[in-house]
Amino acid sequence: MRVLITGGAGFIGSHLSRKLIEMGNEVICIDNLLTGNLSNIEDLMKRKEFLFIKHDITKPIFIEGEIHQVFHLASPASPKDYAQYPIQTLKAGAYGTHNALGIALHKKAKFLLASTSEVYGDPLEHPQKETYWGNVNPVGPRGVYDEAKRFAEALTMAYNKIHKLDVKIARIFNTYGPFMRLDDGRVIPNFINQALNDEPLTVFGNGEHTRSFCYIDDMIEGLIKLMESDFNGPMNLGSPEEWKIKEVAKLFMEISGKKLEIKYLPLPEDDPHRRQPDISLAKNVLNWEPKIRLREGLKRTWEHFLKKL
Ligand code: NAD
Ligand code: UDP
Repeated sequence: MRVLITGGAGFIGSHLSRKLIEMGNEVICIDNLLTGNLSNIEDLMKRKEFLFIKHDITKPIFIEGEIHQVFHLASPASPKDYAQYPIQTLKAGAYGTHNALGIALHKKAKFLLASTSEVYGDPLEHPQKETYWGNVNPVGPRGVYDEAKRFAEALTMAYNKIHKLDVKIARIFNTYGPFMRLDDGRVIPNFINQALNDEPLTVFGNGEHTRSFCYIDDMIEGLIKLMESDFNGPMNLGSPEEWKIKEVAKLFMEISGKKLEIKYLPLPEDDPHRRQPDISLAKNVLNWEPKIRLREGLKRTWEHFLKKL
């Protein structure tokens, strides 16, 4: 198959490209390198099955030849990145999704939107099921990302309804692993960066708030299975293993073998208090659930960055 990935030079996109090529497909990667990096796909650039196109997907593009699947991943993704690029984030969710859907329609390809657990905002339902509508502050600091993804979901479903396009929406929960940018501001890259520099680990608020972290290899398997399925609509993909952030800091010190201080900093505005996916739908429809526990995934990620240095 010939697969188009927007945002293919980013963290998730580069892993997805590599896996799809390993499985015998051709990959076309469209990326404007806003938050991604060519170093993530250095190995792929040498492969004849991989084509990189530097392009901003908020602008139309014509691609020659067949395309069978479109994964739309292009968007700033970390709170630090979308705070720095609020307008680009809204445009990636709106015009970027429109253009990516247009390509899928023209090529009669399947379409998958990388959505997010952020559509649930600071959730009042726990764990979060796909049927929950969310609790989002549209004008808060996270609104640019949350509303861009909510709009992108609505547009994706409209293409399914009006054009009968075969669409899938992956509501991705916090995912981590090798090839994250160490300065993207997310908690696991921050801890790794701080440990590498023997600095205190920064925990926001009292550290009691929670996230459920999924290792990248599991996420890639889930995304590919979802794309291959006949399912249309939103599906949670993530790990149900819920952790308090202060406990993640302790686990990380144990794994890295570094005894560091914990520095408590103010909790950012609108930071969701709890987050845990209900993945019953993915289990039933895709027969998918994450296999790699946080302890093992953190170990692999830490070792990757140690080796890189
Ligand atoms: P990332 O920043 O590493 O990757 C995003 C990629 O999109 C980058 O390479 C960037 O340069 C590219 N991009 C941004 N705007 C673009 C544009 N207008 N045109 C072309 N390329 C553009 O982030 P990631 O963690 O790999 O996230 C990938 C996708 O998954 C995003 O859509 C994100 O919202 C979603 N997601 C990620 C997570 C996570 O925990 N990593 C969680 C939920 C959702
Ligand atoms: N966080 C933290 N220390 C950091 C970075 C983040 O305690 O150095 C917290 C943040 O407040 C949030 C959680 O860790 O509650 C996950 O943050 P991240 O930015 O990784 O993801 P998101 O908030 O988008 O889920």
